[in-house]
Amino acid sequence: RFAYVNGRYLPQDEALIHIEDRGFQFADAIYEVWSVRSGELLDADGHFGRLERSLAELRITNPKSRAGYRLVIAELLRRNRVRDGLVYLQVSRGRARRDHAFPAAQTRPTVVMTAKRLDPAAADRRADHGVAVITRPDQRWARCDIKTVNLLPNVLAKQAAIEAGAAEAWLVDEAGKVTEGSSTNAWILNAEGVLVTRQADHAILHGITRSTIMNRAAALGYRVEERAFSVEEAQTAREAFMTSATTFVTAITSIDGRPVGNGAPGSVAIALREAYLESL
Ligand code: PLP
Repeated sequence: RFAYVNGRYLPQDEALIHIEDRGFQFADAIYEVWSVRSGELLDADGHFGRLERSLAELRITNPKSRAGYRLVIAELLRRNRVRDGLVYLQVSRGRARRDHAFPAAQTRPTVVMTAKRLDPAAADRRADHGVAVITRPDQRWARCDIKTVNLLPNVLAKQAAIEAGAAEAWLVDEAGKVTEGSSTNAWILNAEGVLVTRQADHAILHGITRSTIMNRAAALGYRVEERAFSVEEAQTAREAFMTSATTFVTAITSIDGRPVGNGAPGSVAIALREAYLESL
């Protein structure tokens, strides 16, 4: 596998960054992930837009144009023979002598990109069965809308989910409301048949798949409400599901061991997944 690091394509095991890179030392870096299907980036512009916003929020100079990133992505897909899979991009503030404050002199941002192959059939099979989620307290910071690599609370929550035999952890704020999953946005179809997902404030990542699905759902005639919902509301909902660039739309069949609906993937979640994948 080949990776891109600061202008060079290298075998992944030889692709290295400096030990005083601020991404490594302070998580002073942002990232993006695109899904690739049949050689095409999904929701490409949405992810580029969020990348630019994340960089601007952290005042990291964007080192490339969209066309520049696209050239690297195309080359990585070619070198790694990826038709279906993922592209990962990380940009850090760059390398500087360790000090919390931004370096006085302008640093060159570090750009790292990788691409990997995934089997779409395996992902579809998983979605067909639906997944279990557990809930955990949301222990993250107050700017979850910025896609930074500062992911330790997400990592610990996901690990707890895996150890509990679940696929994802839904994070719950102090008011008892679900913010989102550790790496996915959270949705329910409530008893009135309304799709509910948390408003895109600073407590969640503004998922690109979330916003595409909101539009797609509205076009299909579903009512969508952007508001917080409680764990209990989710457990007694007709359906629950999660969205992300890597899982698309994946039905949730239980929350903390309580079955959602009849415990099988819901028909609306299935329809939205199909609508998303058919539009590619
Ligand atoms: N929420 C979190 C915390 C995430 O890390 C992600 C994606 O990785 C998402 C939501 C889903 O966002 P997207 O649909 O843009 O992949």
